[in-house]
Amino acid sequence: MQVRGAAENNLQNVDVDIPRDSFVAFTGVSGSGKSSLAFGTLYAEAQRRYFESIAPYARRLLQQVGAPHVATITGLPPAVALQQRRGVASSRSSVGTITTLSNLLRMLFSRAGTYPAGAPHLEAESFSPNTAAGACRRCGGLGVIHDVTTELMVPDPTLSIRAGAIAAWPGAWQGANQRSIVNGLGIDIDAPWHTLKAKDREWLLFTDEQPKVFIEPQADRIDHSYKGKFWSARKHIMHVLSDSQSQQMREKALRFTESMSCRWCHGSGLRADAMEVTVAGCTIAQINDLSLREVTALLRPLTEPANTTSGYLDGTAEVAARICADLVARIDVLLGVRLDYLNLGRRSTTLSPGEAQRLRIATQLRSGLFGVVYVLDEPSAGLHPADSEPLLDVLEQLKASGNSLFVVEHDMGVVRRADWIIDIGPAAGEGGGHVLYSGPVAGLEQVKESLTGEYLFGRAKALDRNPRQPAGWLRLSGVTRHNLRDLSVQIPMSVLTAVTGVSGSGKSTLVSQVLSEVVRHWLEVTPEQDEDAQFDVEMVSVGVTNVGDHEVINRLVRVDQRPIGRTPRSTLATYTGMFDVIRKLFAATDEAKAREWSAGRFSFNVAAGRCPTCQGNGFMEVELLFLPGTYGPCPTCHGARYNPQTLEVSWKGKNIAEVLGLSVDEASIFFADVPGAARSLKALREVGLGYLRLGQPATELSGGEAQRIKIATELQRARRGHSLYLLDEPTSGLHPADVALLMRQLHALVDAGNTVVVVEHDLDAIATADWVIDLGPGGGDTGGKVISTGTPRQVAANGTSITGPYLARRLE
Ligand code: ADP
Ligand code: ADP
Ligand code: ZN
Ligand code: ZN
Repeated sequence: MQVRGAAENNLQNVDVDIPRDSFVAFTGVSGSGKSSLAFGTLYAEAQRRYFESIAPYARRLLQQVGAPHVATITGLPPAVALQQRRGVASSRSSVGTITTLSNLLRMLFSRAGTYPAGAPHLEAESFSPNTAAGACRRCGGLGVIHDVTTELMVPDPTLSIRAGAIAAWPGAWQGANQRSIVNGLGIDIDAPWHTLKAKDREWLLFTDEQPKVFIEPQADRIDHSYKGKFWSARKHIMHVLSDSQSQQMREKALRFTESMSCRWCHGSGLRADAMEVTVAGCTIAQINDLSLREVTALLRPLTEPANTTSGYLDGTAEVAARICADLVARIDVLLGVRLDYLNLGRRSTTLSPGEAQRLRIATQLRSGLFGVVYVLDEPSAGLHPADSEPLLDVLEQLKASGNSLFVVEHDMGVVRRADWIIDIGPAAGEGGGHVLYSGPVAGLEQVKESLTGEYLFGRAKALDRNPRQPAGWLRLSGVTRHNLRDLSVQIPMSVLTAVTGVSGSGKSTLVSQVLSEVVRHWLEVTPEQDEDAQFDVEMVSVGVTNVGDHEVINRLVRVDQRPIGRTPRSTLATYTGMFDVIRKLFAATDEAKAREWSAGRFSFNVAAGRCPTCQGNGFMEVELLFLPGTYGPCPTCHGARYNPQTLEVSWKGKNIAEVLGLSVDEASIFFADVPGAARSLKALREVGLGYLRLGQPATELSGGEAQRIKIATELQRARRGHSLYLLDEPTSGLHPADVALLMRQLHALVDAGNTVVVVEHDLDAIATADWVIDLGPGGGDTGGKVISTGTPRQVAANGTSITGPYLARRLE
């Protein structure tokens, strides 16, 4: 395959030849242009050609978005992208739907399930809660409903109905009316509620019946007779919730309801008759709850026709055996990439990016495609070194079935296994965009200017440092969540801790969920921190001991890789707060004063100053069928975001749009005398983001870049603090050279008195930590325990830890 004149983003007119049917690694520091070549050029062009071939009308739209900036590409096969974080998963997609295993399983139930005697066979769709045919009619397939509970409707069962036992009934006249009706039905309204017959209580609260009762005139209330209609408490609440226009009424009604597992389908979301069909004694809902390992164990015996239950119509046993064999074969691939602990019903929104990507890759292996290029974004992200090996085996198999692999990767263990390496650099942004090397891996050793080479061939030294002493310990005990069961763990304070373990061992559950919630709650409930205080948060007991004269944590900061904004309106400059300072500079110029313009005029979010066509976005969103929204430049301002009048004002010779076009490096010279801006810019340069432009829209930033912007924003606060920083895999998406830079910044936070806890797989990062907490031994139910804790050297020496040997090799 030949690429000529690639100039997408920062690529400097790149020419490169790439072999087909090979495993090609794209390497380089973060921001060097790897994704611009692999995704922005090669994949984008393959997709453009594909769409052109199938949909002529797409051509016009695609022209608006613009083809990738490249002169020619020859020999480009069709491409499939398996990206990490892009694409929002819908809450209805699950492990079963991503892998298409759900389709097969439904077919198995439809064709070969055991049905109750006389029941007709159901269509495959009837076994899916996501179809009209299969959804439980009560909860619409969600498995969850909002419903009343007896406890909420009758908070005090010692009261009589007259005294208001049924709190959920309306008050005033309507309530009195209901009491008269109940009286007319012969139920005692003066007896304490709990003394009424259970059957009557149930009926009063839940019935759908609405008998009409003749009510006599009553001295104190009504002067004529009428027919009153009965409403059970539940019926009344549901009526208010579905019909009432009054927000106040609805809110009151909601107080009597709880969201709970749907009691008609038991949370499965399935219609009742589908739940009566079984395979190997299990309903489809039960199979969806089993781990994949258990599903294969259940179905493997059924792959032999002789083993399936007798009594089938002719040929059914063969059908069942064939479907089971297919299911087992597909699940075996997932077990091979160590996803044995997942279950089919698991919502995709709760999967880690690494888990989701492995599911997609493993699913492709069974798709039977060949002659395709798979373009992958850091497949090792989120994986323990012990997990990346089986994944690489699957990638090898994809190649062996006649496909090419283009992999953007930072993990040197993965890069070493490639057939071919394309190293981009030497630096990031405008300092990058050149192909430093394209050829077999070993040849990169000769390329002196390649940072990748330094790490790949062991020239770069691991940062060796003496671990700090903890200033105290945060003790958690009784931690129970997901696969953590009654776990006790101690987090050292005022040091940097790495939490390690194979995928699914419970790291994120412990750090991003439990620790984060416990500390947040703790900060809220303790007005002043007491050294030896004990706190109970949802059964987790938290204690802080031995803190000496150190102040305990007083602030919690989670730094994740979520985008800093989802539209081009949020930019590097707005997010860091630097833009406020810059706009004030412009408002203070003589020109702006003469025109009576305030700082607001220089905001692209305010109508007066911005370009009216794109409303200050600089881009227009182009809607494409089948594709997520894409942005194209604004035809009026060509990306400047402002109207021409606003651009007439300048500061030190640059107008506001030109300032937004500066890179952080350039801006730090331009704004050297403006302390408010200089501080932010310095922090951004320190985390290696000097190449970003001030006006760079949030939509163009990678997860790793977004995370480092957040860290820089923290660093610029420049105060000695007692914050607890929680980071989930901060090194994902980072070149080893960037990892070193990031770790230096995290250590700076610790030097300033803070505590840092990172979930990490990167061995270089783990090696620099003061303390390691290794979870395991496996994933899911086979994990969730603390296997080893100590300094990196202590954990490396621990024979029982899976992480130990990898760490030991790195520390050599
Ligand atoms: P890598 O994959 O090596 O981290 P990228 O290819 O993502 O690098 O980015 C290369 C350069 O192009 C960076 O300076 C980045 O900020 C910039 N960039 C990335 N996407 C866009 C875009 N959509 N528009 C403009 N610049 C971009
Ligand atoms: P790690 O971070 O070590 O990869 P996690 O903490 O994400 O592990 O997961 C630990 C276990 O908890 C795994 O078995 C995982 O499948 C399960 N799990 C994680 N999140 C959820 C969730 N939202 N619902 C159910 N199970 C979950
Ligand atoms: Zn239901
Ligand atoms: Zn515009």
